[in-house]
Amino acid sequence: METVVESEGMHYEGYCIRPPSEAYSILLQVTLGCSHNKCTFCGSYKDKRFTIKDDEIILSDILFASKYMKRQDRVFLMDGDALIIPQKRLMWILDRIREHLPWVRRVGAYANTKGIKMKSLEQLIELRENGLGILYLGVETGDPELRKKINKGSTAQTCIEMGRKIKDAGIKLSVTVLLGIAGREGSLAHARATGELLSAMDPNYVGALTVMLIPGTPLYEEHRKGEFQLPDEKELLEELREMIAHTHLSRGLFFSNHASNYLPVKAKLPKGKQEALDLIDAALKGEVGLRPEWMRAL
Ligand code: SF4
Repeated sequence: METVVESEGMHYEGYCIRPPSEAYSILLQVTLGCSHNKCTFCGSYKDKRFTIKDDEIILSDILFASKYMKRQDRVFLMDGDALIIPQKRLMWILDRIREHLPWVRRVGAYANTKGIKMKSLEQLIELRENGLGILYLGVETGDPELRKKINKGSTAQTCIEMGRKIKDAGIKLSVTVLLGIAGREGSLAHARATGELLSAMDPNYVGALTVMLIPGTPLYEEHRKGEFQLPDEKELLEELREMIAHTHLSRGLFFSNHASNYLPVKAKLPKGKQEALDLIDAALKGEVGLRPEWMRAL
C-alpha cells in the first residue's frame, strides 16, 4: 500500500492508498475508507468513516480524467473496498469509465471477504465483462487463531472461497500476506498455514509485505506494552522461506520486493521456487546483502 498526494482536479479526500502496481493508474476515489477498518495492524483509514462517494463527484472525476489523463490506460478504484458498492451503482461507475475513458484497458480495486461475499458469481462476471480486471485482497495469514487475533473478520476457509470466487469469475487475483504478523513465536506456524492457504486459493500474484508498526493501531500498543515482538531480520527471512516452501501455485508470481522487506524476491511459481529458496538461503548465510533499515518503508 502506498500513499498518493492530493491533486487539484480530482476530489481526493484524506490519505489515498493504492497497490504499488497501480502507480501509473488513474486513481478514482469512489469510497472513503474501509467498511471493516478493524484489523489490528492497519492504520490505513483511521482518519475516515466509511462512505460511498456521491455519483456527481465520481462522474466529475471521471470527466476530469477524460480531459487530462489520456495516457493512463488503467483505473484503480479507491479506497478500501469498492466491491461493497451495490451492484447497480458499481456497474454505473464502470459504464461511465467505458463511456468517458474508452482507452482504459483495466479497472482494479481492493476487495475484502465481506465485499466479495456480497456479490454473486454472476455479478462478479458482469463486473469483469464491464472492465473490472483485477482485485487486490489482503490475506495476511492463513493461521486460524492469528486471523482472529488480528481481527481479520473472516476465517481462512472463507478467505480461500472468496479468493477462488474472484478467479472463477475470470478476474485476476492479487493477494498480500504479512511477514512478521505472528510475532516471534508464531512465525513459522503462520508461514506454513499461509503457504497452505495460498496453495488452496491459487491466486495469480502474491505480494509478501513486512508488517510495520503504525502508531495508533492496536498492534502498536501491544508492541509498546511488550506483548508483541517483531521477528528480527533473520527470523523474517526464515518465515519467508517457510512460506514459499509451503506455497504451491499452479501458475503465479510470488514477490517480496515491497519497500517494507529486507530481501527482494521475485519467483515465478512453480518453476522458480527452488531459485527463490536458494536466494533466501544465501541471504541467511550472509552471502547476499539485505535492504538497510533506513531504506525500508510502507
Ligand atoms: S480490511 Fe484491509 S483496509 Fe480494512 S482494516 Fe483490514 S487491512 Fe485495513
